[in-house]
Amino acid sequence: NATPQKFEFQAEVKQLLDIVIHSLYTEKEVFVRELVSNASDALEKLRHTQITEKAIFDEGLELEINVTTDDKAKTITIQDFGIGMTREELVENLGTIAHSGSKAFLQALSEGGAKNSNLIGQFGVGFYSVFMAAESVRVYSRSWQPEQPGHVWTSDGSGSYEIAESEGERRGTKIVIKLKEDCSDFAQDWRLKEILERYSAFVSFPINLNGKRINTIQALWLRNKNEIKDEEYTEFYKFQAHAYDEPRLRLHFAADAPLTINALLFVPKENTEKLGFSRLEPSVALYCRKVLIDARPDGLLPEWLRFLKGVVDSEDLPLNISRETMQDKALIEKLGRVITKRFLKLLEDEAKNRPEAYAEFYAEFAPFLKEGAAMDFTHKEQLTGLLRFESSLTEAGKTTSLADYVSRMGSEQKEIYYLVGPNRAAIESGPYLEGFRARNLEVLFCYESVDEYVMNALREFDSRKLLAADHADVKLPDMPQSSEGALSADEVAALSTWLKDTLGSERVEAVSSSDRLVDSPVLATSADKMMSPHMRRIMKAMK
Ligand code: ADP
Ligand code: MG
Repeated sequence: NATPQKFEFQAEVKQLLDIVIHSLYTEKEVFVRELVSNASDALEKLRHTQITEKAIFDEGLELEINVTTDDKAKTITIQDFGIGMTREELVENLGTIAHSGSKAFLQALSEGGAKNSNLIGQFGVGFYSVFMAAESVRVYSRSWQPEQPGHVWTSDGSGSYEIAESEGERRGTKIVIKLKEDCSDFAQDWRLKEILERYSAFVSFPINLNGKRINTIQALWLRNKNEIKDEEYTEFYKFQAHAYDEPRLRLHFAADAPLTINALLFVPKENTEKLGFSRLEPSVALYCRKVLIDARPDGLLPEWLRFLKGVVDSEDLPLNISRETMQDKALIEKLGRVITKRFLKLLEDEAKNRPEAYAEFYAEFAPFLKEGAAMDFTHKEQLTGLLRFESSLTEAGKTTSLADYVSRMGSEQKEIYYLVGPNRAAIESGPYLEGFRARNLEVLFCYESVDEYVMNALREFDSRKLLAADHADVKLPDMPQSSEGALSADEVAALSTWLKDTLGSERVEAVSSSDRLVDSPVLATSADKMMSPHMRRIMKAMK
């Protein structure tokens, strides 16, 4: 009947509304995401109902979402032609907390994990979030069931709501939001456009804002990869990552276990950190069924993967995921492990099957792999396998993996040798290489200042110690020496003492003869266990 009937909100709803109303301004915009997600869910449900039911009210309506703003009246209207709600459903769905996310939120609050309202932005509290921004809300709804009348549900969020019958409604739900004074900017077309593009760009039903279509790019990650053209991938990448380049690598996969995942990831052409731009922020966005949960989720991927772009979508995530609860944190970590594993596998395949493309990738992104190899204990081994170095046996510009180095080692050789220097010419013209060359021992060349740190952190590869070739600890196998022109033992002792006295104990710890030299008369080795000459130069430069 047409006389409004008054209802009290369930006690838990009141509690929730109380928190929601005092939330911080910065979180308020998520109400748009929540209402648009509900509209999209309602359309999805209608599509299913169309398959199973013969008689559907207003059958011919487009399955779309229409949003309009009126900045003079300070209202927003969100209308969908979805499944709609009967009177009983309005009471049940908008008057109680059936919704599991809101329950979880209240629970987190009572557990003391969430001291105040700061968490609402991450949680999203479903329909009730509208009261963050609304002075009052009217929900017009008419069910798909032909014999059910339409209704209007009204509330200011302060404890009670009213329901009355309403004539002339179309199928679905129309929510009219009268904004609070301090939230009136949401009624500006540009402001709402920004919010819709941010959170709802990939919703599968058309979203029109004041008659203009918002979501024109498809949620490519959910489509079958055999049906997607390269150009579509590139277009998606540019849109999603706000990029202007073409992606260098892409990884598109779906998995069912241990979690349902659809992921579409990209490596950009260039490493902007290398170009001297600021440190990259993690930017693989987290979605749940096409709706953005978090554009820059912390803790999803290891730090060294911050150069990856793209989207991860998992149905198993609640829209209102929170990193505050242990359970959700574990879920996000699990997701991250699956993605990291797949990505490492992709790199291994590239390195094996497309070595030239891999070398180009490596030239740009090696610093991240090195960082990971040194710091990410879980993936250290795989990452170490992906590292590449020039060596005394490679041509200039060509590289070797540690595994290939090991495969060339003779049975006598126990350690993997490397030398740090600014470039190939510098290392080759220095005295340290001679003794290794003379014995046919391969030495890796490290040109980057991080390499030394990385080699130290790795310690070994394939149970072989990594050893700096300019270290005093290096013991090379004996070699036949020509006795021609050699100094006698006494002469060597005298020369050593003279050198030691002349240089002084400030500058050398010991002077001795060595068979590490072939052509050069003398070399300095590093006695310091902690710091190599190269490291010392860096420390000095850093004062
Ligand atoms: P959730 O979407 O997680 O279930 P919400 O608080 O967002 O929780 O919504 C509560 C319920 O209200 C929904 O489950 C749905 O049954 C109903 N609902 C909300 N918006 C609509 C809508 N536009 N059309 C139909 N039903 C809706
Ligand atoms: Mg919802």
